[in-house]
Amino acid sequence: MTMRRIHARHAVIDGARRLGTLGLNKGTAGNLSVRVDEDTLLITPSGIPAESLRPQDIVLMDFEGEWRGEKKPSSEWRFHLDILAGRPDVGAVVHTHAPYCTVLACLDKPIPPFHYMVAVAGGSDIRVAPYATFGTEELSRNALVALEGRKACLLSHHGMIATGPDLPGAIKLAVEVEELAQQYVRILQLGTPALLAEDEMDRVLEKFKTYGANAQTA
Ligand code: 13P
Ligand code: ZN
Repeated sequence: MTMRRIHARHAVIDGARRLGTLGLNKGTAGNLSVRVDEDTLLITPSGIPAESLRPQDIVLMDFEGEWRGEKKPSSEWRFHLDILAGRPDVGAVVHTHAPYCTVLACLDKPIPPFHYMVAVAGGSDIRVAPYATFGTEELSRNALVALEGRKACLLSHHGMIATGPDLPGAIKLAVEVEELAQQYVRILQLGTPALLAEDEMDRVLEKFKTYGANAQTA
């Protein structure tokens, strides 16, 4: 195994543990993947809690779905592979059962533009992919449609998916989306918020193209 791949396996384990520390996943819920090169990706194994993961447990998979390793890949390998294959802008995919995202997903409630930060997921709303059994191709198809023009989506009666150019980026977006979901759930308990207009969200999306430039050059 090359040093680069060993480093990548540790990064996957750190990412999976971070999702736990951030309160976005508990136990064996959730999974993540990272693009290694044009032919392969690394994905967390199925059914192993983040705190028990060892580098050799992380599964190397090609874009045909062939894999090798001691452990089986995550049951959700299909949507990880399909997202990474279909979206060259995406370098990492994070799936969580984050509590507030899951509350909204179980009510089939998309997150509308109640706050300008909704644009962080790439559009004027965050959609809910229709329900399909976990680990199925149907769930993958539904997720891909919900992710069209977006970097994140909710999964009906399940949780959420966040993507990013790399793993820190995908985790950062998962945190932002869970924060928005929490705010929206609390707002719904008090009333019905007015929504920002489509042209205002377009302005925000335009500004987001350059927002954060300081962090990138720091
Ligand atoms: P895995 O342990 O197989 O990754 O499954 C967890 C999960 O969240 C399924 O949707
Ligand atoms: Zn799940």
